[in-house]
Amino acid sequence: MINYKVHNHSLSGAVKDFGQLLAERPPFLFLDRDGTLVPIADNPKEAILSSSTSNVLRQLSSRLSKRIAIVSARSLNMLAAECDPREFILAGNYGLEMSFPSGQVYIHPEAQKVHSLLSEVRIELDQLADYDTRLFVDDHQYSFCLHFHKVATAERHIIHSQMHELEQKYPSLVFRALPTSYEIVPSIKWNKASALQAILGKLSLSADDFLCMAFGDSLADEPMFQWVNRHHGLSFRVGECQSTEANSLLNAPSDVVDFLESLLLLPL
Ligand SMILES: [Mg+2]
Repeated sequence: MINYKVHNHSLSGAVKDFGQLLAERPPFLFLDRDGTLVPIADNPKEAILSSSTSNVLRQLSSRLSKRIAIVSARSLNMLAAECDPREFILAGNYGLEMSFPSGQVYIHPEAQKVHSLLSEVRIELDQLADYDTRLFVDDHQYSFCLHFHKVATAERHIIHSQMHELEQKYPSLVFRALPTSYEIVPSIKWNKASALQAILGKLSLSADDFLCMAFGDSLADEPMFQWVNRHHGLSFRVGECQSTEANSLLNAPSDVVDFLESLLLLPL
């Protein structure tokens, strides 16, 4: 028995008979990492993939002939350190860098072009973090995240103006303001839907031949939900949210893992 809430009632009839759906098309899973497989932590270094979750993922990968992709904002290196690249499709930096179990590696050419520019920005961000130790830089190689959640709200205007200055200096990079962090990414028209499209393309597969299932917890996952819905798949938004394109809801990462474990009980 798989427990989840159906968000979009138009799909409720279809997803009732989950076993039937799986019999029609083999599943292809796309999973965000932070907030989806692993609870969010104050310091991203403390958000560790548990051995039990890792075990469920490995079993699923084997059952699904490796049709399971981790699609994350984290770098490919970080993902590869915890998920064996021979068993999983790994899409780091929203898929700007990807590896496949076959050994094939893809790096978006535009991301490669701005790599040296990103290194320059990294030095500037480090200087800011050295000056104010409440700041923390997360290095994802092709993108960075400057976390400022430890800075009091009244003082955050200083960070905003510093980021504005950097934005003027580096017009080929995007400085995306998030509630308690800035994401600095190459200015490339790209999102997680682009990543999913590229994954299927690199594998020379058609999405409509599979029951594509996407799991994610944030705004960055919404394009992935839309893409999966367009291909008549299932999309799962994890945690509290105001609105979502996902057709199903799960409460927390622990529910995602329970759900994945339940899949193992079905004939895949
Ligand atoms: Mg997430």
